[in-house]
Amino acid sequence: MSIRYINNPQRVPWQSNNDEVFVEIPQTMSSERSYQRKDHGSHILVVEDVSVTQEFLKAVLTEGGYRVSVASTVGEAQHFLDGELPDLVLLDLGLPDANGLEVCRYLRAMPSGEDIPVLIITVDERPTSHSEAVRAGADDFLRKPLLPAELQTRTRSLLRLRSMRAELRQDRQAILTLQAQKDELVQFVVHDLKNMLGSLLCSVELMDTDVPEEMVRHRQRIETAARSMHLMVDNMLELSLRNQPGLKAQRTFVALAPLLEQLGQELGPTVLRRNQSLEVYVEPGLELSADPQMVQRLLFNLLENGSKYGPVGSAIQLRAFKAGAGVRIQVADQGEGIPQDMKQRIFERFIRLRTGDAMLPGQGLGLAFCRMVMDLHGGSIWVEDNAPKGSRFLLEFPA
Ligand code: ADP
Repeated sequence: MSIRYINNPQRVPWQSNNDEVFVEIPQTMSSERSYQRKDHGSHILVVEDVSVTQEFLKAVLTEGGYRVSVASTVGEAQHFLDGELPDLVLLDLGLPDANGLEVCRYLRAMPSGEDIPVLIITVDERPTSHSEAVRAGADDFLRKPLLPAELQTRTRSLLRLRSMRAELRQDRQAILTLQAQKDELVQFVVHDLKNMLGSLLCSVELMDTDVPEEMVRHRQRIETAARSMHLMVDNMLELSLRNQPGLKAQRTFVALAPLLEQLGQELGPTVLRRNQSLEVYVEPGLELSADPQMVQRLLFNLLENGSKYGPVGSAIQLRAFKAGAGVRIQVADQGEGIPQDMKQRIFERFIRLRTGDAMLPGQGLGLAFCRMVMDLHGGSIWVEDNAPKGSRFLLEFPA
C-alpha cells in the first residue's frame, strides 16, 4: 500500500483506490513545519482494525509530526499499553475481539493511565453509546468519515489537555510536598517551644518563695504568661496534627471527678488571682468514653476562657451528667457572652471577638482545638447564652 499526499480542496478528504491511499493535507499542517510545536513528537496509539483507516490516520498524524503506533485488536492494544504509555489514544469501538471501550477501561485502571486522553472514532450516533464511552473514561469523539483538519485540531487540543493535566498534577504534588514540609517544620518548632516552656515553668515553680512582695508579683506574671504560652503551643501542635491522616482519639473510660480535680489544681492560681470561684458538679459515678489527654485540655481551655473572659469575683461552673446513652458537659461563666452572629464562628481558628481581647493571652486557637477534639470523638460542641448573663459551652459525647 502506498500513500500519496494531495492538496486539492475539491477532493473528498480521504479515499482509497485499490491499494493506494490519498490523503488531503490541510494547508495549516504543511505550512507549520517551519516551527517546532510543543506537541511535536508526541506518541499516539491508534487502535483500529480497518487497514485503510489505519493508513489514513497514520498518514495524517505522521505528517503532523507525531509518532504513531497501531494496534488492530483490544488484546494488541492492551499488550502495547503494558509496555509503554502513549500521549494519546485514538480508539475505534468495533474491534474484532471485543468492544474498543475495553481498551479505555484498561487504560483508566492503570496507575498513570488516568491522564492519557482517549479520542473515540465512531460511526455510532446513539446517545447511549456516547454516554457509555464517557462512563468508560473517553474524552472526546470523532465521527467517521474523518476529516484530516478536524482530526488534526482535535488531536492537538487533546494533547494540550494531556500536558495541562500533567502540569496540574506536578504542581499539586509540589504544593503537597511543600505543605508537608511546612507542617513538619511547624511541628518541630512547636514541639521544641513546648519543651522549653515546660522547663521554664519548672524553674519558676522552684524559685525561692522567700522574696520581697514585688518579686512575687513578677514571678506570678512570668508563670501566667508561660502557662498561657504552653497551652497555646499545645493547641497549635494538636491543630497542626489535625490534617494528618490517622490522628485518632485514644478512647478509654475516663473518670471525670479525678480529672477535674487535677484541672482545679492547674487552674487554681489563675482563678484565685481573679478572686473567682470554680463550681463543679459531676453526676456520681459518671464515666466518659474518650481520650483523657484531649478531654483534659479541652476542659482546661473552656474553664480558662470562663475565667479569662469572666469578671473579677465571678463564678465558673462546670456540670457533667448522663444524657441519653452519652454524656453532656456544660461550662458556664458570667462574662459578656457571645453575640448571636458569632456563636458558630468563634470555633474557627484565629477568631477573637473584642479588640480588648488582644490584651489577654491567647491566639484564637483554643475553641478551634475544642471543636477538633469533639469531631474526633464523633460528638458536638456549641455555645448558648447563660442566664442571667455570660455564655454556656455545651459538649455532647456519644456513648
Ligand atoms: P483565645 O481565648 O485564645 O483567644 P479561643 O479560641 O479560646 O481563643 O476563643 C476565641 C475568642 O472567643 C476569644 O478571643 C474571645 O473573643 C471569645 N471567647 C471565648 N470564650 C469566651 C467566653 N467564655 N466568653 C466570652 N468570649 C469568649
